[in-house]
Amino acid sequence: MKILKNYDLSALNTFGVPIIAKFFVEIKSESDLLELIYLSEFKNNEKLFLGGGSNILFTKDFIGIVIFNKIKGIEIIKVPMSEEVWVSTKNVGKDFVWIKAMSGEIWHDLVKFAISYNYWGIENLSLIPGTVGAAPMQNIGAYGRELKDILENVEAIDISTGEKRIFKNEECNFGYRDSIFKNDLKDKYFILSITIKLSKKENKNIEYKVLKEYIEQNNIDTSISKNISEAVSAIRRNKLPDPNVIGNAGSFFKNVFIDKNKFKELQDKYPDMPYFKDEARTSPQPELVGLEGEYKIPAGWLIEQCGWKGKRIGNVGVHDKQALVFVNHGGASGVEIKSFAEQVINSVYNKFGLKLVPEVNLI
Ligand SMILES: Cc1cc2nc3c(=O)[nH]c(=O)nc-3n(C[C@H](O)[C@H](O)[C@H](O)COP(=O)(O)OP(=O)(O)OC[C@H]3O[C@@H](n4cnc5c(N)ncnc54)[C@H](O)[C@@H]3O)c2cc1C
Repeated sequence: MKILKNYDLSALNTFGVPIIAKFFVEIKSESDLLELIYLSEFKNNEKLFLGGGSNILFTKDFIGIVIFNKIKGIEIIKVPMSEEVWVSTKNVGKDFVWIKAMSGEIWHDLVKFAISYNYWGIENLSLIPGTVGAAPMQNIGAYGRELKDILENVEAIDISTGEKRIFKNEECNFGYRDSIFKNDLKDKYFILSITIKLSKKENKNIEYKVLKEYIEQNNIDTSISKNISEAVSAIRRNKLPDPNVIGNAGSFFKNVFIDKNKFKELQDKYPDMPYFKDEARTSPQPELVGLEGEYKIPAGWLIEQCGWKGKRIGNVGVHDKQALVFVNHGGASGVEIKSFAEQVINSVYNKFGLKLVPEVNLI
């Protein structure tokens, strides 16, 4: 383990913005991390754990230490659950299986591992960029599934003491693109591994409109989880820009939740406004100018209505197929992307009275 100085992070963030980290270190094991936390470069500096850099916008050089996570390993584990019937010593329960993945693994490699056994529950989350360790941070989600639906627990290390703690699913306070690790415990824990619980029996969720249509149009056999994974991947490849080709960090903003009154007001004005009603939604969103509620309005639609889709200012633009995704057309700085985002926030606020909240972590 070697601590490097003045390290260029251009290739390690999917927006591709040129940024220098004062210190940079790559960790390959738990013991690397436990050794690191007692070193002065770690103790005396701001810290940033970095996975795939696919949910980060750097707006200035990072005057601290970047810890680049390369801790690998995926295994099917034995979870002692009395109601399960174990048919082999390798934790093959009757209906479920538990897989432990180390945080530096690529998320989609975990998906591929699971679907190679035809396990169920993870297939809708195919092809989300980034690492396993970042997945609980914002409770990654796509096509009608979220990490919280399959997560058993998170194993994390308190970076001030080196102590390990297991967070059960319900202790992670998962919400829409949200978790305890983004809020109360922000910057306090390093996520070392996650354990997911998947179904061995067919357990599909193909109700998400776009996915359903794709499956019907292409006559896909949905009795194999790999086929659903491939359908999701095909939709994503068609709709989302590949960060290896053009810099971006996926959805820049979260979708917006509003209450019944605001919903009614907007629907009267915009009868075609798409929405999704989430009865279970209770967590407050104080940043929404006092609003919270069960009606989810796609932020991409709000942005598109303000005329931003496909629009470009300087080196930054809104993707022409998905208005929620901002792209770096080449040479954009983090400040330029941030100021572009502020213009979008302002125009959405002026038109709809709704404040967009970034999903991307601004550093
Ligand atoms: C084209 C594209 C499509 C996307 N689609 C989706 C989507 O469908 N759904 C979705 O939810 N997201 C999506 N994203 C966002 C992104 O892929 C996810 O948020 C992903 O989980 C980020 O992983 P990462 O390893 O790149 O995290 P990074 O960007 O490296 O880090 C993100 C945050 O997590 C923290 N972090 C990372 N690893 C650890 C760790 N081990 N311990 C503690 N903190 C850590 C970082 O410090 C940072 O605050 C998309 C991004 C792109 C570029």
